[in-house]
Amino acid sequence: MSSCSTLAQAPSACRSQVHARHSGQQQKQAAAAAATWRGAAIGGSSAAALRSAAAAAAAIPARCALQPCRAVAAPEAPAPAAAAARSKQPALKVIIAGAGIGGLVLAVGLLKRGFDVTVLERDMTAIRGEGKYRGPIQIQSNALGALEALDARVAERVYQEGCITGDRINGLCDGVTGDWYIKFDTFHPAADMGLPVTRVISRITLQEILADACEELAGKGVIVNSVNIVDYEQHTDPRTGKKSVTAIAQDGQRYSGDLLVGADGIWSKVRECMVGPSEAHYSEYTCYTGISDFTPPDIDIVGYRVFLGNGRYFVSSDVGGGKMQWYGFHKEPAGGTDPPGQRKQRLLDIFGDWTHQVTDLIKATPESEILRRDIYERAPMFKWSDGRVVLLGDSAHAMQPNLGQGGCMAIEDAYQLVLDLCKEADKVEEGRAAEMDVEGVLNGYMMKRVVRAASIHGMAGMAAYMASTYKAYLGEGMGPLEWITKFKIPHPGRMAGQIVMKLTMPGTMSRILGGFRRALAQADRLPVCNLADQPQGFHHQLFDLYMRDDDALLRAAHASWLLVPASAADAEAELHEEFAEVKKRSPPISRQGVVVGRAAGCSMVVDAPSMSDRHARLHQCDRGDYWITDLGSAGGTWVNGQRIAAECPVRLLPADRVAFGQAGQEYVVRMLHNSLLQEGGRHGGYDRARSPTPALLAGLRQPQAALSN
Ligand SMILES: Cc1cc2nc3c(=O)[nH]c(=O)nc-3n(C[C@H](O)[C@H](O)[C@H](O)COP(=O)(O)OP(=O)(O)OC[C@H]3O[C@@H](n4cnc5c(N)ncnc54)[C@H](O)[C@@H]3O)c2cc1C
Repeated sequence: MSSCSTLAQAPSACRSQVHARHSGQQQKQAAAAAATWRGAAIGGSSAAALRSAAAAAAAIPARCALQPCRAVAAPEAPAPAAAAARSKQPALKVIIAGAGIGGLVLAVGLLKRGFDVTVLERDMTAIRGEGKYRGPIQIQSNALGALEALDARVAERVYQEGCITGDRINGLCDGVTGDWYIKFDTFHPAADMGLPVTRVISRITLQEILADACEELAGKGVIVNSVNIVDYEQHTDPRTGKKSVTAIAQDGQRYSGDLLVGADGIWSKVRECMVGPSEAHYSEYTCYTGISDFTPPDIDIVGYRVFLGNGRYFVSSDVGGGKMQWYGFHKEPAGGTDPPGQRKQRLLDIFGDWTHQVTDLIKATPESEILRRDIYERAPMFKWSDGRVVLLGDSAHAMQPNLGQGGCMAIEDAYQLVLDLCKEADKVEEGRAAEMDVEGVLNGYMMKRVVRAASIHGMAGMAAYMASTYKAYLGEGMGPLEWITKFKIPHPGRMAGQIVMKLTMPGTMSRILGGFRRALAQADRLPVCNLADQPQGFHHQLFDLYMRDDDALLRAAHASWLLVPASAADAEAELHEEFAEVKKRSPPISRQGVVVGRAAGCSMVVDAPSMSDRHARLHQCDRGDYWITDLGSAGGTWVNGQRIAAECPVRLLPADRVAFGQAGQEYVVRMLHNSLLQEGGRHGGYDRARSPTPALLAGLRQPQAALSN
């Protein structure tokens, strides 16, 4: 057996290709560029360091400059060469049940290293996208590192198609007010540990990329559709002692090989055959999901948010292409359904009193695109293999979706299994596959994976518990004592939780994103972060500021503030339908100021009895905050139900309610992304990745106050 199948060593033919791309000096330059970039990013030190990294990267060929970390051992050979290599490998035939994320990543990894693979899929529409719609999925740094080490070209395609969210601030917020509870930095841990930065990608696109890679390596027949595996049998040839396994489909078809991998998801039949039937555990939450054409005002600064509540929580994430994905979780018994056309209304019943950041997304999603499913998980188990049969991904450790790590764990599993099979194959001489200790490999693979998978499973459960038991104020959830909430006394649990999370979050992030690094180090992948992964919407030096200062983060949004009539802001119709009208009536609040009044010369003329000729002035100060000043009006200016003193500026925040005269029309302070104010601007029309704003310059244009704060 040639040693070229290990992850740590490329076959000579492939090596020369790796060298052609990253030979000697180039590799050093690439690594130097990457290291310099890392220094700049991690230390948050100087723009000069970043520039010198960019300059160093510019000195090397374009492909290397963009991706100094793409030197991996995975053979880059086209299909025929891979096929030739395969003829020299042991004829280890691997049957994979399930062409989900885990099954396909495993197939790509094994095919590239010369194994004979067949993937059996029950329903190909799940991977080719015809008819069945499955939303985007977050692939985090740990899994992207594994993907990169398994197949650099596949990883590159994922980078092209995906949307980076890890280059921005992410975190947890109060569901009602939208105030930040805790923020996550997933960028610096990735840069620090030399891993790619977290992305979101459509599941269908991801699975298509993987399926295409399989077919390029082994031809069209490698994935077999409409095969519902329901059982397996193991055999030992009494004459030769050779062991084999047969996967049995519902229609009686039999598929034999040296190894069967059950990558058939949470309802795995392979698992059932291995350990017997067992009920999946209902998480007590049903989950509504949707994708909306909506442009949040701070999309350039914030990637994803989890809005916390009691018995309900909501997740929103940029998924690129001007679209936002959201998940609304609600505690209720399993099996619930909604009358046709009533899902949006149900969601507004559940989340209608929450921040606009939540309700806008619901309103902007067409009813027909709101899906619903109950969330299940399975307790971690400690038997993943049985002879020549092994489990991978959800079939072994289906977890709650709250950490966005279920699919990532499936990718890590696939990487580990490829690594271990390759190592074992290397020990055996060419053509003597029968001597491979397959059962030992499968057992070893489980031992390496089980603790990490179980701990991530536990953390996902904890995250779900935390997100759904959050109580902002004392009295919440206290039944007859609920009235105490009106005093807005912060809930002690909220405060204690916040302190604990602030202390533990950096370590937790490092464990989640970097906990697989030791296994990744066994591949020939350079442990460096990609220059192109740096923040796009602001200068990376501002990252720390935005992490600690909510006001600075608010100011950084590429957004305009304006007053929207409360009737429009609260309407259940989509905000963007009303948008053109709102734009005409409410000019964006500028540094010059907007004067509201009855007089014809005012910038916002409102002809109402409660309004004085020059009633109030709204303006943005040099620091970037927004203020309202009553200009000595007769009826007074009211902010959140309180009359403000004349000639005494009061700071405004998003969602504040403003009325001119006590009985006057009420307005809501709203932020709208700048793209919406451009000619023809519409929600969903802004694609951050295609925004003409040059990434670094955008950050440098931030107000001085933000830089120096
Ligand atoms: C709402 C939600 C959001 C999530 N978000 C994320 C996220 O952001 N990031 C993340 O990493 N994870 C996320 N997850 C978890 C993730 O979806 C799963 O962990 C992941 O899909 C598991 O991959 P898998 O390959 O093990 O199984 P699956 O992706 O479920 O694939 C199993 C495949 O096997 C096929 N199959 C099933 N039975 C058979 C059979 N008997 N014979 C043949 N084929 C069969 C299925 O058709 C399917 O194609 C989320 C989950 C949910 C519910």
